[in-house]
Formats: sequence, structure tokens, C-alpha cells
Amino acid sequence: MSRISSDSIDKVRAAADIVEVIQGHTELRRRGGRFTGLCPFHDERTPSFSVDPGAKLYYCFGCQAGGDVFTFLQEKEGLEFREAVEQLADRYGVDLGFDEDDAADAERRRARERLYELLAKTAGFYARYLWDSGEAAKARAYLEGRGLGREGLEQFGVGYAPSAWDRVLTSALRSGFTEAELQAAGLAQRGRQGGLYDRFRARIMFPLRDARGRVLGFGARATRAGQQPKYVNTSETEVYRKGRSLFGLDLARAHATRADEVIVVEGYTDVIALHQAGMRNVVAAMGTALTDEQVAELARLARVVLLAFDADRSGQEAMLRVQSAAAGRGLVLKVVRLPDDKDPCDLLLEEGPDSFATRAGEAISFLQFQVESVMDGADLSSAAAKDRVLARLRPVLAGVAPSAERDEQVRQVADRLALPEHLLVPLLEQPAPAGRTAAGMAERRPARAAVSAGAAARGERWERIFLAMCVSSGERGREYLARLSDEHLSSEVLRRARAWILEHFDSPTAGLSDADPQLAQVVSEIVVRASSEPVSQPALEVGFLGLERRRLEAATKLAAAAEDFQRQHELTLERSRVTETIAKLMGEEPTVGSEGA
Ligand SMILES: [Zn+2]
Repeated sequence: MSRISSDSIDKVRAAADIVEVIQGHTELRRRGGRFTGLCPFHDERTPSFSVDPGAKLYYCFGCQAGGDVFTFLQEKEGLEFREAVEQLADRYGVDLGFDEDDAADAERRRARERLYELLAKTAGFYARYLWDSGEAAKARAYLEGRGLGREGLEQFGVGYAPSAWDRVLTSALRSGFTEAELQAAGLAQRGRQGGLYDRFRARIMFPLRDARGRVLGFGARATRAGQQPKYVNTSETEVYRKGRSLFGLDLARAHATRADEVIVVEGYTDVIALHQAGMRNVVAAMGTALTDEQVAELARLARVVLLAFDADRSGQEAMLRVQSAAAGRGLVLKVVRLPDDKDPCDLLLEEGPDSFATRAGEAISFLQFQVESVMDGADLSSAAAKDRVLARLRPVLAGVAPSAERDEQVRQVADRLALPEHLLVPLLEQPAPAGRTAAGMAERRPARAAVSAGAAARGERWERIFLAMCVSSGERGREYLARLSDEHLSSEVLRRARAWILEHFDSPTAGLSDADPQLAQVVSEIVVRASSEPVSQPALEVGFLGLERRRLEAATKLAAAAEDFQRQHELTLERSRVTETIAKLMGEEPTVGSEGA
């Protein structure tokens, strides 16, 4: 992919109104030349969050989040650097220029732009056809029967593909697109006789859009009896990659990051129906199985993922697969229990608009879901049958750290098996399978620990962003990396990553070995996060000082715990000096009362 030119990135940074962008997430008030408000990154009651519209920087004196308009969107909306630049370019009307590696690269980009244009035009055609044509009456009736109103359907761009063989084909050719482009966009295909015809016919069309709302392809639902298969997706194309997209992502993203919770359902119509009922943090996987890439996308949106899949066997298996993809990502997985044979759409129709929200509020832990999946319908008629049940439960429970939740599940099982608990516990003991433990523990910490785990995860995310800023910034970045110490970083792997990057600064990903997959993954992620554009000196300094302040905070706590009051005093002084320096950089006095937030 060609890189956005650094010139364009400067233009976007200059054009973007950082106050306006941040206002979308928290209310800001002017104080002199600055703006302050409640921090959008942590919970607080007195404002410690400050924005400098001149320097185009933000900083929180409570949690040390800080950076520029690009890092803000990366952090708050879970965007990649490139996506943040593109989104702001759209919003502030900046035409992006690209550093073309060669002419072929430029040509490929132009070709892709053409495909996006063709797909957007076609989506518009389908959408008009749904509402205007007599042929689509049955489709309209079906959608109405699912409880979907016109407004919601229009927001998602739902349309209808005519039954004729060549409506899209001929109109696209008339607009100047080529047969090759139609095929490349996945809209036309060749028959056995060699003739070209429309790929989608007599189907309800759900546009699959990326995070920016660009149409990448379509999911298409049959409308006629006997029309097979029931669902067809765009096949793999230049712009649509299977297993990458989530339906509804463009509309759900901001809501999901704000709520720190995202709901995953199975059907396109479920997403639209829930959206209509006021639950907007909802997306659908395409097909039942969520891929690793989709799970990674979910992890960027929110920490809590609610799975609302059908109660049938395939839905249950799909959820178990999500768990393995989620392992090690620090996600909290929960399961929304749906009545048999009902999807969220049915539920809303039959039990009213609040019915789903109520069930989502009662979502159960993944552990409970797993235990119930084993127990439901299990044969408990003989001792041998009970042994088989125990064998299936053992791996489920073995990886879970002791907690009230785990005890409760063990009690339930003891009850069902009619075994005394003290006999059951040793039967369930077994070393945890490798790779399962972390996920199990992250997921089943009691609520208080989960909150601090969330804070830790936020801290670590910020550390990764700072490392990426260093990678972006050449010699200056290298100096900041050298100034960092292990104490600034909260995990072992990040410490190793810093050491590695410092040692291999010019080409950090070269020479990474499979022997240390954890290091390889973290370093690659940091390098991918790094932009092609050097970060400004003040942004680096504010970032560094934020980490420094956190380090001092932790050291102060340690000193206090060791009753080394002299040291505690020195550290406290040092910390206020750092706070002052940051305040000076931000051109403002720190807000009283924000300490220790
Ligand atoms: Zn904060």
C-alpha cells in the first residue's frame, strides 16, 4: 500500500480542529487559551483533561493520556494511524497525497479507487431499486415483517438486486466502467458460454462497509423459495477480504468505544433491528465463525464483548471458537442467552424494544456458558456417564483462577451430579492446558480487579503508542527510547520490545524469530502502529513525561508501603516537578484535585 505523504499528514493536522474532534467525546470549556474538561480516558469528577488548540495537543493530569489529534482517534475510536488520518482528511476536506514507491503503485491505487466508486454507485442503485421497483415488493414486505423501518434500512444502505441478468452490468458499462472492473469488484461473472452477467440477482443486498463507511462488497439474501444458497457474499476481491469485515462497524464503532462494550450478533437484520431499538454498539460477523482478524478488530473497539448467537449447536460452537481466538487479548467475553429458535430480531418483534437490552444486562460469564453447554442434556444416568461429563468439564474449569464465580459453578455442577462438593473438587483438578490460563484469569476476575485490569490495559496501550511514536521519529525517537527504563513499562514483553527496538532501531522487524512469538507480535504491532511521519518534539516530550509521572507514582506507593518516608517525600517532589513541566508545556497550571485520580 502506498504511504500517505508526510506533507498531507501535516495538512490534515493543520486543518483538523482538535477541540472539535475531542468535543465529540467530552465537553470542553475554554480557560484562557486552553480548553479543559472531564477526561474521556478515565472516570473522574473534577476535570484534569486539558487541550491546547495552538500546539494541537491534549494531556490528562489524572491518567497521563496525551498526544495529538491522531493519537486521540487511535485511542478513543480504536483506529489505526492511517485510518485516523483518512477519517480527518474526509472530515476536514483535505485531499491526501501519496508517496508512490513506483508508477505501478500509483496505478494500483487508482484502480482501487475506481472499484470503490463502482461499488458505491452500485450500492446506491440497489438501494433505490428496493424502494422504487414493483419487483422488490416482496423484499420490502419481508423486511417490514422483520420489524425494520425505512430509516434504519436506509442508514445501512440496504437494497435489492433486480432479477434481470444484466441490469448492473449494462448501467455500469454505460457509466464508463469496464467488464474487467465489474469482475474485479465481484459484481459480474462469466457463465459457461463465456458471457458476462450480474452476480447478484433477485436478492436483498446488505452492503459490507469498512470503518470509514466505504462499500467493500455485499451480503445478499435470497428472496425466492428454492433460491440457493440462502446467503451469498461477495467473493474475495481486491478490496473485500473474507473474514476481515464486520457488518455495521462503521455505524457501531464510536458507540462501542464509548461504552467499552460491543455486541456481536449473527444476522445483518439483527444489527439493523437492534440499532433501531437504540442499541448502536452492535456488529455482525459475516458467517458464524469469527476469524482472528475480526476478534482483533473487536478488541480494538472495546474490552467487553457480548456474544448473542443463536442457541443452537452451531451458534454454541461458534462462541467456543471465539473464546480461543480471544485468548490472550484481555477481552472479557460474555454470552447473551437467547430463547431457542429466536434471533434478536424475533425477540424485539415478539417481546418489545427493551427485551434484548434486558437480556444483554443479564449476560452470563463465558465460564457459566461453557459449564451450561456441557451440562445441558448431559447423560447423568450412570457413574460412567458422570465420569464422561467430568472429563469434559475438567479442561473448562482447570484453567480458571479461584474466584467466587468458579466456586459457584463448581457448586452447580456438584448439585447436578448429586456429588458432595468436597469429592467433586479433586475430580476437577488438573493442570491448566497451556495458553488457556491467561484468558481464563483475565475473564473471571471479580469486578474490582477487572476495573484495575482495565486501567492496566489502558496504561499498557498507551505505552505501546509511545513506543510507536519513538519508532516514527528517527534519531529523536531513539533518544527517547534510550531515556525510557524498564520501570516505565508495565509488562515484561514491552520491556523486551523496547530493548529489541533500541538495538535494531533501523529495521526493528528484521531478524525477529518465531522462537519468541510474543516478542515478534508486540514488536510488529508497534512498528505497524508507527506512522511514516515523525511525531513532533513536544508530543514526544509530553508522552515521555506522562510515563515518567506514572513511574514516579508507582515508586511513591512502593516507598510508602516500605515506610521509607524520606524516599517517598523525594519522589513526591520529583513528581510535582514533572507535573509542572507538563503543565508548562501545555501552557497551563495543573488542576487542583486531579492528583491520584
Ligand atoms: Zn485521564
